[in-house]
Amino acid sequence: MDPTRPVAEALAVRDGRIVAVGSADQVRRLAEGECQQVDLAGGALLPGFVDAHNHFSVAALDVFWADCSTPPVGSIAEIQAALRRAAAKTPPGEWVRGWGYHHAHLAERRHPTREDLDEAVPARPTVLMHFSHHQCIANSLALAATGITRTTPEPPGGEIARDKSGEPTGLLFERAMGLCELKSREGWERRFSEVAAAASRRYAAAGITTVQDAAVSPRMAERYREAARAGHLGIRIQMMAVAAGGWFEPPAEVSRDRPWETGGPNLLAGSLKIFVDGGYRCAMRLPKGGKMVTSGFLFYRRAELADLMVAAWRQGWPVTCHAIGNLGIETCVGAIEDALRREPGGEGMVRIDHAMFLTKELIGRIKALGIRVVVQPAFVYDLDAGSAGEGILRLPFRTLRDAGIPLAFSSDFPCGTLSPLVGIYAAATRRTRSGEAGDPEEAIPVQAALEAYTINAARAGGLERECGSLEPGKRADLIVLDRNPLQVSPEELPRLKVVRTFVAGQEVFP
Ligand SMILES: [Zn+2]
Repeated sequence: MDPTRPVAEALAVRDGRIVAVGSADQVRRLAEGECQQVDLAGGALLPGFVDAHNHFSVAALDVFWADCSTPPVGSIAEIQAALRRAAAKTPPGEWVRGWGYHHAHLAERRHPTREDLDEAVPARPTVLMHFSHHQCIANSLALAATGITRTTPEPPGGEIARDKSGEPTGLLFERAMGLCELKSREGWERRFSEVAAAASRRYAAAGITTVQDAAVSPRMAERYREAARAGHLGIRIQMMAVAAGGWFEPPAEVSRDRPWETGGPNLLAGSLKIFVDGGYRCAMRLPKGGKMVTSGFLFYRRAELADLMVAAWRQGWPVTCHAIGNLGIETCVGAIEDALRREPGGEGMVRIDHAMFLTKELIGRIKALGIRVVVQPAFVYDLDAGSAGEGILRLPFRTLRDAGIPLAFSSDFPCGTLSPLVGIYAAATRRTRSGEAGDPEEAIPVQAALEAYTINAARAGGLERECGSLEPGKRADLIVLDRNPLQVSPEELPRLKVVRTFVAGQEVFP
């Protein structure tokens, strides 16, 4: 990923940093004392993958909760069985949690209800998170614990689904799920340190050496510091800060602080995260029956968002905006334009994550602003092919790249597939899980996809001096693949194996 030396034969590491890259003869001459020489036996050495938008803290804690991923789970009865099993292992006083279901992939083709959850776990508060992590289902005790009743008004930016009589069905969208989300994980978060090492290993096995955790509350940041002090972070984590009162709340109180302190070499401070629109129900504006119709959740007006950005920049926070729908992105881009007029120094301090449903016009404005976008290539793989609407470009990697916007990649795991190799495959082939091609003209070369998952992802977090390429002076975050990804057919990429992973020169996998 170093354009001045795209391919080399050998590399030397000292004290966790790369000290030389070159021919085998040149590098071998540096060997002295107890130097260890490693023969890669034909494998390919790459910089470790940088996942610029990931939910490491959620993924680590998921081991305590019921895995309701669809597939393999296929029905509400199977979800109930998984919740019952999780409840049996849940200590007294803790909430039962399940995660990962997609209603459209269930045999019943509907969301479970509070009654379905009550039947499985009647005696303790229980929540079931949607795969998008932007909506959930609460059982009756969870609704009671968070004070949601038939008389609770709709929160701004959220929705409490109700039956015909006005009774909550248990389904909570966006800001309406904030309290359930926070309360259901509070006790579990105290055990984060126990599971952080195993999660690090799982990521290292996928070739990931740095992640940006895209939603870390002040409380979760404390848990991260504990894990870092205990030496349980095996890969490097950069924290994106969200509000204490819930991911989707305005992080105004956080933006008034200076950026968070770090926690040793494996825990870094990152940006302030602002959710501009919803997740599964993102803010869209599409033509329908001769007029423009808007749908989904939009959390801010343009002026409110600009105020929040300017305040954050003045305290020294870079800002990451979550924006998915075309209306969400338009609001975000407009707010950035306004904010930069007031505070030109903010230019290198803002990025847009997801940017999923774009238009040519929005891409032109993003380019003019010089802002980075962080996209999820494996969403091409995870989602179905099909049209997103007239004039809408869905995950248009090629168009973005041709416009001169540097693409950075990420997984959004556990909302998307973790493996960077699957993401790179999806970017290069545009294939979905079922093998169809979605917008094949938006494919990009494998080399460009590798850059997006390494050096460009590092730049998106301001980490380009530390990682993302194999250059002297950088940390020795290295992976060995069994084959060279540039010398196999793109169709083969998901079958490549990560053989070894090193973080700062230390082998962390296998
Ligand atoms: Zn995310």
